[in-house]
Amino acid sequence: MRILVTSLLIMIALISTASIGQSQSAISSIFTPPLGYRDDYDYGAPTYADYGTKNENLIGGSCFGVPWKELYHAGEDWFRIGENGENIPIPGAEVTAVADGTVIWAQPINYPGRVVVVSHTDPLLPQTTYSVYSHLTDPLDVQAGDSVLRGQKLGTVLYQINNNSHLHWEIRYFADGSNIYPNYPNCNGSVPGRGYTYPEHPDNFPSATAGYTDPFTFVTNRAGVFLPHLMRYEDTFEPNDSFNTAASVNSGVWYQSYISSSGDNDWYTFSVTVPSGSARNIDLYLQSIPPGTNYNLELYSPANQLLRSSNQPSNNSEFIRYYTTSSGAYRMRVYSASGFSHIDSYDFRVDVLSAPTQ
Ligand SMILES: [Zn+2]
Repeated sequence: MRILVTSLLIMIALISTASIGQSQSAISSIFTPPLGYRDDYDYGAPTYADYGTKNENLIGGSCFGVPWKELYHAGEDWFRIGENGENIPIPGAEVTAVADGTVIWAQPINYPGRVVVVSHTDPLLPQTTYSVYSHLTDPLDVQAGDSVLRGQKLGTVLYQINNNSHLHWEIRYFADGSNIYPNYPNCNGSVPGRGYTYPEHPDNFPSATAGYTDPFTFVTNRAGVFLPHLMRYEDTFEPNDSFNTAASVNSGVWYQSYISSSGDNDWYTFSVTVPSGSARNIDLYLQSIPPGTNYNLELYSPANQLLRSSNQPSNNSEFIRYYTTSSGAYRMRVYSASGFSHIDSYDFRVDVLSAPTQ
């Protein structure tokens, strides 16, 4: 099955650090594909180069004691997809970080081009997750140790002969692929690994709990910035400028909206149900705030009392946690202390979570 990436928003790199308790940590819950961040093209993998497939086009050489064409692809090879579904090579295409994270590798390897590996940690991710970007041009735009933001440029796609200029990218749950093939030392390389597995499917390689995962599926399931083209500049929540006109949202879902004019402020309502004798934490997230603005966040009780506010400087992300034993229709308010944008959205989310009674 051909995978199409459609409808990418034009976004610019956004700062997204959130304060959680006393510590500052990068929030990388929202993922976007590594190509197309600032253009309108469709990108995707041909069937033969999809995740977990065997590539019959790989001729010559061997690894794991079998010909390359017997190996399972541990990532996806992305080309630009033309109007008739053809694969268009993409030398020079801009490759961007799929989420906020830290670069742990930015070097050449034993296949063409350079490789970048970024680690992502987040309270909403089950475990540390790594994104891998291969066949990049020298020099890269980042180096090991750099913090990167979702949408930040890492480098560009390497020119390869035979119309084969593409990005190989992976999502996986292990950092170091340098020694994961002990029975086939000729397959070992450096940290990024080989990009293929055998005999296990990449889901289970090198172990069932620390293997690869389907990168496009992973990113799509966490794609906070995907919207159809037609919705690009629409604020579908308006009018929601007051406590009484707050727009309904659900717990556990990322949303996007806009402070679209001077003086605009956005109210959202969500229901909290607390069974007798138990308690809930209300977690509010506000992130991907447009550069050059300062948006802040407030939580209100069902009786319209201000319960908590989060006022980070500039466009730093906001986070509120509030413990409650009271049910009702709570409100969150997003407002601007300075600036606005009807082009760049912000991302927000409510989580109502079970909490131990205090
Ligand atoms: Zn590949």
